[in-house]
Order: sequence, then structure tokens, then C-alpha cells
Amino acid sequence: MFDIVNIEKPDSLETALKMLSHNPDLKIIAGGTDLLIKMHNGTLENAALLSLRKIPGMDEIRCLDDGTITIGAMATFAGIFRSSIINEHLPVLSEAAVSVGGPQIRNAATIGGNICNGAVSADSAATLLAYDAELRILGTEGARTVPIREFYAGPGKVNLKPAEILTHVVIHKTGYSNTSGCYIKYSNRKAMDIAMLGVSVVCKAEEGRFSDVRIALGVAAPVPIRCGEAEDYAKGKEISYETMKEIGIYAVKASKARDSWRASKAYREHLIEILVFRALKEAVIRGGGVHIGEL
Ligand SMILES: Cc1cc2nc3c(=O)[nH]c(=O)nc-3n(C[C@H](O)[C@H](O)[C@H](O)COP(=O)(O)OP(=O)(O)OC[C@H]3O[C@@H](n4cnc5c(N)ncnc54)[C@H](O)[C@@H]3O)c2cc1C
Repeated sequence: MFDIVNIEKPDSLETALKMLSHNPDLKIIAGGTDLLIKMHNGTLENAALLSLRKIPGMDEIRCLDDGTITIGAMATFAGIFRSSIINEHLPVLSEAAVSVGGPQIRNAATIGGNICNGAVSADSAATLLAYDAELRILGTEGARTVPIREFYAGPGKVNLKPAEILTHVVIHKTGYSNTSGCYIKYSNRKAMDIAMLGVSVVCKAEEGRFSDVRIALGVAAPVPIRCGEAEDYAKGKEISYETMKEIGIYAVKASKARDSWRASKAYREHLIEILVFRALKEAVIRGGGVHIGEL
């Protein structure tokens, strides 16, 4: 069923990097929930695989002394939504994690695979963008850190060189402290469906005004995006029905929604406007603010 030539199972990152540099054809496998589908469909044939599963510590989720949160690339979505660190500090990521697939998928699918697969519908993408996440990448020439905003290069394409491994996702305290937020996944089915639109909002409020609003969208453009104009508009504005409605309209401008077999451009734009409003409204309520009405 799967056209696997060979599978390497290194027990350290050093060995993994050596193997990848000696054999550039080796394909990294984490949970396999994207990769094995490609092999099953015949888009990937005769694959020699390198599994990251035996490398200790790659699934750890830690909160460092300065409040920086590190999430190992091999952390599964089940591990993420059960993590007390994530639930306490990054509840929007927990919300995104629990929306992925069904229980079997969440037990196998990793955050690293979700990011590196580069799908615009990846449920972690919008939320990691909204939390200003960074990616730690290790290669034979050393380590580098890439803001997730610069990682997506096109549909299914990411800025990962051959023989590089994503080791961690990093979220600094400035990315999450004193924030509230919300992730809304819009799809045809309630479970086991990929997003038609993913909206993630992380915001801070002071004295009835937005002091920081971060809005990210999945499936609204060829890659997951932040809505810069909407965020700039929101800063300093009074938290009101009108402000949130206007932010939703600005978010549509940032998108490059297209017609596809899943939804028309017009329908997607309508969804962006409404769901950004709803995600903001929910984020404000979760942050202790008041209900400001329906759109
Ligand atoms: C039935 C089903 C339902 C699904 N539902 C959803 C859903 O609701 N939402 C969603 O977002 N996704 C969904 N997916 C897609 C998939 O489960 C996720 O994208 C998952 O997070 C991929 O992780 P993985 O560990 O299985 O990656 P893999 O399949 O192992 O790898 C994916 C890609 O990333 C690369 N890679 C993996 N880890 C690393 C690393 N550390 N460094 C460098 N490269 C790496 C691999 O080489 C491969 O190219 C679904 C899949 C299935 C089969």
C-alpha cells in the first residue's frame, strides 16, 4: 500500500542531520498523517523515510523562566490541547488543536508536520501567526530562527532548505501575556473536515479600547496571512460594535480569497467579515469585556 523503500530511525538530532546530509532524498516523517496520504495517492513514490519519533524531547512543551513557551515539533495536537502550559497561556492554540481531524488524527498529527506541510488550511497556522510565533530550524550549517510570518512561501511551500529539521515552535511572553483570543474554524462538517476558513484573533484591551489586535486567516489567500490594515485600524479604537464591524471589513481587504470548489470568493469574503467580527467579540468577552451584540 505504501511505497516505502527504507525507514531510518535516528535517536538524536545530530544523527538525523548526518543521515539527511548523506542522503538528500530522505523524507522526514513525523506523524505521517499528511505524508502517508501523499504516498497512498501516489504523489510521493519510492520514498526513503527518516522518522523523528525516536529522538528524545522533541515532543516537549515547556515554559522557560522568562515566560517563553517552546513547543517541540513532535508535540501532537492531543498533547497540545491537554497541556496545562498551553491551556493556561495559549488557549487559542488549544482551541485550534482540538479542531484538528478526529481523536485518531490528533493522537498522531504533530504541530511540526502541520507547519512544514505548508497547507493553507493547517489549523495551527493562523493561531501561531496571531501569537507571533517563531520557528527554530536546525540544519548541518547550524540553527536559525524564522518568524512564522516569513515561513510560508506559497501553496504547499515553506522556507525549509534540504536537510533542515524544524525542532521547536517558540512563543515569547510578549506574544501572549495579557491577551485574550479566539479561533473559529469554519468547515462543512463539524469534525474530520479541513477548514473552509480559519480565523484567529489575539487581542489586548485597556480602558475600553483595543491596545493590540492581531488577526490571522487561513484559507483566505494562497498562504496563511495576518491582516495588517485591520490591526492598524483597531489600535486605540474604542471597543464597540461599530469598531468590530469595521475591523471585519478591513480584514476582507487583506484577504485574497478565490473561487474554489469548496466556496466562492464572494462567500469566503462574507465569511471573513462575519467571522472576524465574531472572533473579536468572543475574544473581548473572554478578556472580561461585555457582549456588544450580534452581526
Ligand atoms: C483524516 C485526516 C484529517 C485531517 N484533518 C485535519 C484538520 O482538521 N486540520 C489540519 O490542520 N490538518 C488536518 N489533517 C492533516 C494532517 O493531519 C496535519 O497537517 C498534521 O498536523 C500533519 O502532521 P504529521 O506529524 O502527521 O506530519 P507528516 O505527515 O509526518 O509530515 C508532513 C510534512 O512535514 C514534513 N515534516 C514533518 N515534521 C517535520 C519537521 N520537524 N521538520 C521538517 N519537516 C517536517 C514532512 O517531511 C512532510 O513533508 C488531516 C489529515 C487526515 C488524514
